[in-house]
Amino acid sequence: MFLNHVHIIPKEISPGGGIEPFLQLVDAFELEGAVCFAPFTYQTDPLGLNPNRWLYQQIKGKDYLIGYGTLDPTRAPEDQIKEIADLGFRGVKLHPSAQKFDVFGVWARAAYESLVTHNLIADFHTGVHWHRLRDSHPLQFDEVAFHYPELVMVFEHMGGWHYFREMVAVVVNNQQRGNRLYAGIASVLDRERQRYWYLGVDGLEDIKWQIGVQQMIYGMDYPYNDEAQLRRDIDMIRGCFSAEESAQILGGNLQALLGLSP
Ligand SMILES: [Zn+2]
Repeated sequence: MFLNHVHIIPKEISPGGGIEPFLQLVDAFELEGAVCFAPFTYQTDPLGLNPNRWLYQQIKGKDYLIGYGTLDPTRAPEDQIKEIADLGFRGVKLHPSAQKFDVFGVWARAAYESLVTHNLIADFHTGVHWHRLRDSHPLQFDEVAFHYPELVMVFEHMGGWHYFREMVAVVVNNQQRGNRLYAGIASVLDRERQRYWYLGVDGLEDIKWQIGVQQMIYGMDYPYNDEAQLRRDIDMIRGCFSAEESAQILGGNLQALLGLSP
């Protein structure tokens, strides 16, 4: 397995943070590798850390870990994105609600241009997260997809329970234009603990039916899911999809997107 969506958070913020606890999970699941996200600037600013350089130090020398950077939405994006590309990272994690930006605002559009220039993937949180819904409403993502057809986007949680069908609409609506839009399958399989993002295996089957298995990328949403939760997710996916499809969802599609061989 090669899994997406690993938040690496400094120890100063979270006692179980840093890279070491995650490396234990890499061993426990015998992962081929993973995509690690830098902490957000609202987390690292009080520590005076550059989150992208910090992540680089954490994963340096571990070729099986691929870094995605983060952007400070209060500063011009171009130099930040150049730094992220120069560090060898392959994408950025964007959380419009937590980072409080409009996904089709002036700042974000400048960021997309630069991400396309540097061939970086945009991995978005989608769905309700206690911020203005208009800033990241599915209709806004359709605008982004329409105006930036070369931007590769992964939509984590696929809008969650509330916006699931709308986010499926965004992907389907842009599929024939050559867009590369992916369904991020993270924190969507626990009806009690992940109520707002819950899609269940029925939702995963709907994504396969409407969009296709080749667009599905499983993410751990570490450290918000523990080992037991992740095992439960993986078992559910393997129980619902064929061995070949499960291998695509649990790493193959992401490796192909990143140009890595399994
Ligand atoms: Zn996340």
